[in-house]
Amino acid sequence: MRTALSVLPYQDPDLPVDERVADLLARMTLAEKVGQMLQLDAREDLDDIVLRKHAGSILHTSPAKVLQAAQLNERTRLRIPLLVAEDCIHGHSFWEGATIFPTQLGMAATWDAPLIEQVARVTAAEVAATGIHWTFSPVLCISRDLRWGRVDETFGEDPHLIGELASAMVRGYQGDGLDDPNAILATAKHFAGYSETQGGRDASEADISHRKLRSWFLPPFERVAREGCRTFMLGYQSTDGVPITVNDWLLNDVLRGEWGYSGTLITDWDNVGRMVWEQKLQPDYAHASAAAVKAGNDMIMSTPGFFQGALDAVASGMLDEADIDRAVARVLSLKFRFGLFEDPRLPDSHRMGTVIGSAEHTSLNLDVARRSLVLLRNNGTLPLAGGLTAGSDGRALPSGRPRRIAVVGPLADDAQTQLGDWAGSSGQVDWMPDGHPREQIATVLDGLRAHVPADWTVTHAEGAGILTLAEDPAGAFFPDGQPRPQIVVPTAPDRSQIAEAVTAAEQADVVIAVVGDRIELVGEGRSTATLELVGGQIALLEALAATGKPLVVVLIASKPLILPPVVDGAALVWAANPGMRGGTAIAELLLGLIEPRGRLPISFARHAGQQPTYYNQIRGQHGDRYADLTQSPAFAFGEGLSYTSVEYKDLEVEATDLRSDDVVRAHVTLRNIGTRLAHEIVQVYVRDSVTSVSWADKELKAYRHVELQPGASERVDLVVPVAECTIVDAAGHRRIEAGEFELLVGPSSRDDALLSEGFRVADSPEGDWG
Ligand code: BGC
Repeated sequence: MRTALSVLPYQDPDLPVDERVADLLARMTLAEKVGQMLQLDAREDLDDIVLRKHAGSILHTSPAKVLQAAQLNERTRLRIPLLVAEDCIHGHSFWEGATIFPTQLGMAATWDAPLIEQVARVTAAEVAATGIHWTFSPVLCISRDLRWGRVDETFGEDPHLIGELASAMVRGYQGDGLDDPNAILATAKHFAGYSETQGGRDASEADISHRKLRSWFLPPFERVAREGCRTFMLGYQSTDGVPITVNDWLLNDVLRGEWGYSGTLITDWDNVGRMVWEQKLQPDYAHASAAAVKAGNDMIMSTPGFFQGALDAVASGMLDEADIDRAVARVLSLKFRFGLFEDPRLPDSHRMGTVIGSAEHTSLNLDVARRSLVLLRNNGTLPLAGGLTAGSDGRALPSGRPRRIAVVGPLADDAQTQLGDWAGSSGQVDWMPDGHPREQIATVLDGLRAHVPADWTVTHAEGAGILTLAEDPAGAFFPDGQPRPQIVVPTAPDRSQIAEAVTAAEQADVVIAVVGDRIELVGEGRSTATLELVGGQIALLEALAATGKPLVVVLIASKPLILPPVVDGAALVWAANPGMRGGTAIAELLLGLIEPRGRLPISFARHAGQQPTYYNQIRGQHGDRYADLTQSPAFAFGEGLSYTSVEYKDLEVEATDLRSDDVVRAHVTLRNIGTRLAHEIVQVYVRDSVTSVSWADKELKAYRHVELQPGASERVDLVVPVAECTIVDAAGHRRIEAGEFELLVGPSSRDDALLSEGFRVADSPEGDWG
């Protein structure tokens, strides 16, 4: 029997969610309902957001404001709890002292779904403790044009790898279900095709057919939708003239219809306003708001004008209140299921003290950084140490004769740049102008100094500047009042800086040049026309190469960049922004304390004019090169060296005559023919020999991690369900087509690295597959 008579039905946790939603909805005014659909920027006037606009959610909430917002919310009539959201996309980005992991692209280089699930679990624990409920992560966009400014936020270019890693990340964030106090809501974004914009220009029109979407861009989203990702965020682009925000086919037919998605749909930043002031597709906010609600959006991010717009739309009969009710019901139902009415999940200082930046999380971070490093070229310079010996504290130390190391380059000791976008001072929030605490971050210089034996020397010279910023000639603000990013002015090579670096190089046995990009060249509205190193960096590398000293280039870059030919002979390590422990991991790798084990989740171009360079391109064109350059990438998807060599042989497909419901079973034998431990990622691609419509020459279908001691061999079993061997036909249906296939197995997507064996599929069943 209920004792508290004052409890209204919606406040009663014993009632079913649907009843609670219906009761609450019936008590809400139209203004309260419209407000419930709003997610507003908490850096603005909180009183207005919470008390006057009745916002259902806030984002970019500084630590001080999380509690303040909750207290204000207590003064609202119905006390509907706020959903607090943030972009915690590689750690709790804007919480000082949180664990900042490598960027999503860096994590993708590990090809390690369980590891990424752990990262998301740990992030969720740090985020949940601070009173934030919802992260706008992971990004499922496919990166194809490297000029795009947001490549670093993606898992790279392959739909299968993206699906595996995104699914793991969603599981990690959402934990054991919404009852879990360490669970946060995940967001699959940006739905869909946002990355396929022209010329890599952020948020422009994406020319992408329904069939192309279904072939490559939608499958990762479909997977996480079916697996229960609680929220989806839309992209900024238009396709076929229709902004994704109001794309009825994508939102209703596909997402909510075919995939049965019942979660929450949120727009991206001011998508509704943009239809008015930027895309000029709606005459005013009333029309734009009506269109967005009718298309099935539940939450409108950062369009304060939606409040009056939606009210006007209802008043003028353009919009039915019932349409608003449907969206609000979904938002409320999420809040009820998340238990926010019983426990608004406010910041918990005790939990914060134990989880944020904890030793356990830091150690996981180091492990992720280690596994994310990709050795792209080696000429015998690496590892720097001949062997290992035990130090006095039992730690392994590099051995061999004392060495002098010159660490040069603008990124050798640039702690905040190493963290990449969406972290600390990367520009999205105003409460961390100095970024994350310096002492939590190990740069390459820190890492080397800490790890070399006492009789080795480490010298340092910056050698080059990268850029300065100047006002955009078009003005400091966009029409909506948002600041327009400043433009990049490359720093000219500085003779005295280069001379200092050359002197350091000449006095050393080996030179480590740490070069790459900076935050001003990364992110939204910061696509780049070129992919070369900016500023004085090329001149620096030329001068270093001219010294004839053994050279190692460490590229700390948000995305694949193009290096000057003068360093073709140097060893090369790519560390996509490697997070707080990146410098330690890089030092360990250079010194040979760990083995290189990352593999490229994205191809590196030789020239920006080759864009796009992704591996799974459609076959059939006049030849396979430009008149003046090959089309082949500098480094292909899947590539990455180790300090040993692994031989692949005896690929065998166990049964070659199969039916559509069978599984392709194969094995291959790997042998470590070098002298160090191998961490190999065995990659399995499928080529459909003849297809009814043009299709990718080959596609990744599976991969396996294998560890091999020196001299050891292992027979590795491989499995690919025939159901995965599909194409999307001319009518847009995913299906298996009977006929010949090739199973391609090896260490990368390069044809000459792959063994091949055929198999046949006898039937082409009707119906959609995959
Ligand atoms: C980005 C989203 C992000 C949102 C909130 C947008 O501009 O495109 O990825 O989640 O801002 O910060």
